[in-house]
Parts: sequence; C-alpha cells; structure tokens
Amino acid sequence: MGEKKLKDKAAVYEIKDALEGRINKSVVVPEFLTAASRFRFKCYPGIGCFTKCCSGIRIILSPYDIFRLKNRLGKTYLEFLTEHTVPMMIEGSSLEVVGLRMKDDAIRSCPFVTPEGCTVYTDRPLTCRYYPIGMGMMKKDTGKSGEDFFIKVKEDHCLGHNEDKEWTIREWRQDQESDIYDEMNNDWMAIVLKAKTLGKVEFSKRSLELFYIVSTNLDLFKDMVFTPKFIAAYQIDSETLKKLAEDELELLKFSLKWLRFVTFGEGDFKVDQDVRQKAKEKLIAQAEEERRKLREQAMDD
Ligand code: SF4
Ligand code: SF4
Repeated sequence: MGEKKLKDKAAVYEIKDALEGRINKSVVVPEFLTAASRFRFKCYPGIGCFTKCCSGIRIILSPYDIFRLKNRLGKTYLEFLTEHTVPMMIEGSSLEVVGLRMKDDAIRSCPFVTPEGCTVYTDRPLTCRYYPIGMGMMKKDTGKSGEDFFIKVKEDHCLGHNEDKEWTIREWRQDQESDIYDEMNNDWMAIVLKAKTLGKVEFSKRSLELFYIVSTNLDLFKDMVFTPKFIAAYQIDSETLKKLAEDELELLKFSLKWLRFVTFGEGDFKVDQDVRQKAKEKLIAQAEEERRKLREQAMDD
C-alpha cells in the first residue's frame, strides 16, 4: 500500500497499537505510511521538550510491559499491580486491563520520570517505544480488519519533529526495540484486535475475568498451570512443563497462547473439556479474590 491521505470519509481506521491510549486522534498526521516511509525525528536529553511527553498521559500496560517492569523493579506481580497500576478499559471493547498509575501531582507525571529522563528506559512500556509512530488498521464495512498501516503523531509540544535525523518507519521501530514487544504480545494483541474489530461483542463474565488475570498476573496463571488438573486438561507433556517451569518468558508466551485459545478457540491445544472447565473455574475464583484485594488497596490509598 502506498502513502495516501486519510481523507476518504468511507475509510474507518483505528489506531491498532499501544499508542492509542496516549494520544488524541486530532494529532494524527492524516497520511497512511508504510514501513518504508521516511520521517524526520530525534529525541535526546537536552532537547527543549525533554520529558514533556511523560505526564498527563494514559499508558495501557501489555503483558510483556508488566513482565519487564516488575522484573526491573524487583517486585512480584501483586506488588507491581498494587503499587504501580490502575484499572483501565481497552477503548472500543469490554476488555479490562491495567495502566500505569501516574503520580498525584498537578501534571500527573509518570512515576518513572526525572529531570534526567526515564529511570526505567531500557524497560519502558511499548507505548513509550512506539511514540510518535503508531500502527493503524483499516476496518472494512463488514467489521473485519483490513490492511495495516502506520501513522505519525505530531503534538505541538514535541520538538523532535524539527530535527534533521531521518528514518524509515522500519528503522525507527528497530531502534526502539519494539519488535521483541510485538513478538511477545502477539497473541494478546490478536485477542485485543479481534475484540475491537467485533465491536460490542458480548464476552461472558468468565472470559473477561480470564482476560484480565492472564493479561496482568503471571504468578496467578503459574499457580494454575502446575496443577495435575490443568496438565491433564491441556495434555501438557513433560518437556513443555519443564520449559515452562524453568523459563518465565516461555510461561508468559504460553499463557497468552492459552488465553487466545480459551477466548476465541484459536491455536492448537488439545483439551479434555471436563477437566478444563474445572481448571478455568479455579483460576476465575483466584482472579476475583485478587481483584477484591486490589480494589481494597485502591480505596485505602
Ligand atoms: S515510562 Fe519512561 S518514557 Fe514512558 S512515560 Fe514514563 S518516564 Fe516517560
Ligand atoms: S516531546 Fe518528543 S522530542 Fe520531546 S522528549 Fe518527548 S518524544 Fe522526545
């Protein structure tokens, strides 16, 4: 797809990636861009607007964002969720997730910003990596998703657009190391996009609980996986089980594949339906208990 204007009134587009919570559509430059499109941008300590984009924003946290940040901060999932997140909805869907809890100051600063920059820079969330390039998606009249494209966000306060450094979109995304985040979140994004594309599709309370808990708390998922019932329900072989026990990243990828499977039936799990139902019920009960604790904590703050 070549570059073309986003003028066509019949064209419905959605911002597809994590940037959507961070920006207002009015700051999207009205052009379709491809990975080969070029743009000028540079962000560096010393630029006049340095850290101005790190306050008053809404940052939805993807599963891999949470994984990286909680490890960076040396927290358990529950500690991280309690101290650093607030509940948020994914726009255009009934899916609940968590977002970064901003400071309670006048400009709602990010808790990780200092005058010297981001204190978690190498583990910053995907939203911060994508900026100012987002990914969009055409929606067809049928409601099905169509072509992907990229968009550029140009906010008045961001002086990076006045710099001479030129990139292709592909180079920019590589530089920001967003590929690994895209890969890790792939199954999760597939669920989110399908939910958004389907519009007001009704998910059961159970599906929503499962989505929330698997999206936010791998420790809870872990408690469920290493039980005889789950292993039997999903016919997990000993080699896979060993890999999941030894490597938390493998467990994260597995959890999101599983979530996609139980949400939309997509994937290649083999299941024993009866045992699977009981395993799901157990996870939901745990999820409800964790959310009750988080709500109580939020009320105490
Ligand atoms: S995580 Fe870092 S880059 Fe992202 S908003 Fe906070 S301080 Fe800025
Ligand atoms: S406003 Fe733009 S140029 Fe300035 S620090 Fe943020 S991303 Fe970088």
